Amino acid sequence: MIVVLLGPPGGGKGTQAVGLAASLGVVHVSTGDLLRAHLAAHTPLGVAAEAYMSRGELVPDETVIDMVRARLAEPDAAPGAVLDGFPRTVAQAEALGRLLLETGRTPAHAILLDVPRADLIRRLTGRRVCRAAGHPYHVEFKPPRREGVCDVDQSELYQRADDTIATVTNRLEVYDRETAPLIGYYQALGRLTTIEAGGTPAEVTARLAGRVSDLR
Ligand code: AMP
Repeated sequence: MIVVLLGPPGGGKGTQAVGLAASLGVVHVSTGDLLRAHLAAHTPLGVAAEAYMSRGELVPDETVIDMVRARLAEPDAAPGAVLDGFPRTVAQAEALGRLLLETGRTPAHAILLDVPRADLIRRLTGRRVCRAAGHPYHVEFKPPRREGVCDVDQSELYQRADDTIATVTNRLEVYDRETAPLIGYYQALGRLTTIEAGGTPAEVTARLAGRVSDLR
């Protein structure tokens, strides 16, 4: 089973993806996390991606498609995956569709986390993640037990370079232009579930849990 989580940056995809993947018994695949791991390891891919990421622009389609193809071929992804941050363009969605067909998998089901625009900037600029594993926190909505320290692995929490106001604004524009068309794309395929995603992470998790049976 492949589930695509759609929604604007700051829409809570990362937070919800972790719980959703666990409840479905599949892996969580975040292309943003994969790219940041490349960046931290200074791989050629990471070096090439850095300039796009720091501006809040999209990394070229072929790069992320190859990365996702490789990740889905790993044994732990055999039962399925929750894809977080991919696809981000119609070309990526089409490539994913072809990949699933070629590998004999069921077409992806998309879940849209529909967040009021006013909530987004507040959510994004308050976001913090841990150095070791990217566990997500929020200064206001999901503070760690000890300030600046991850509850799970005790690593340092930091603000992503692309969660500053200027980059956030550009990321929202890129979302509207490149990624929002995917809503219509999956709707036309009859593969879209929309979740009203305003409110606290716990409220959204509860709404999502109520709809998970739709996916089976
Ligand atoms: P995220 O953690 O999903 O917000 O992604 C952070 C950044 O990584 C984005 O702003 C893009 O620069 C890049 N990125 C992540 N996923 C993709 C993708 N599917 N296509 C292109 N760029 C991506």
